[in-house]
Amino acid sequence: MYRFFGPLCGLGALEEKAMTSLTARNASLAGCSICHLLCRISEKKDSENTFCPRCGAVLHMRKPKSIGRTWALIIAAVILYIPANLFPITRITSFGVTQSDTIISGVVYFIQSGMWLIAAVIFVASVLIPIFKIIILIFLLVSIRHRSEWRPSERARLYRFIEGIGRWSMVDIFVVTILVALVQVGNAATIEAGPGAVFFAAVVIITMVASMSFDPRLIWDEKEKSYE
Ligand SMILES: [Zn+2]
Repeated sequence: MYRFFGPLCGLGALEEKAMTSLTARNASLAGCSICHLLCRISEKKDSENTFCPRCGAVLHMRKPKSIGRTWALIIAAVILYIPANLFPITRITSFGVTQSDTIISGVVYFIQSGMWLIAAVIFVASVLIPIFKIIILIFLLVSIRHRSEWRPSERARLYRFIEGIGRWSMVDIFVVTILVALVQVGNAATIEAGPGAVFFAAVVIITMVASMSFDPRLIWDEKEKSYE
């Protein structure tokens, strides 16, 4: 397209402005979230719902109450992350002796046993990824709150990154599940999931829902408004 019309720098400020602000929202169009049909929608009718003529789903310009919902889910995840680390994630009973391990004590155990790779996987999946995800989501929400125009593409890239890595935190839950299934077979030792595992699974699921409820188009909305 650019080759056909000539380089972007050759365009006047007006044309560049028009190209940047040509969005579905400006044209009063919205894509249906279910069947992806592009429909006409009036932004002024906030109290009234507009329905997709093809599948009947409610149409929205942006994900409804995206910022409020994402904040609520992040706060819930931060609160649940505390018991997820304080309560044991596994309870191992061997010859009548029970040993409980939290996420961190499990990592320390694997390091002391020389199993660096497992320790690294658990540390990255259970500590680094959830914390990183929560910090990035808070950063995105705060930047939108302050109507920041700072590097929108980089912020969108951060969002795509946390969308991609979030599910890998479930690795820890899978490790516990597999251990429980394997060790229950033997009689000498039993492993059962501790209450920490329930809280940790809740943190992973809630942060996944939080990043889904965040609407990355909000990153550009302020920038587009400044062109109007
Ligand atoms: Zn539809």
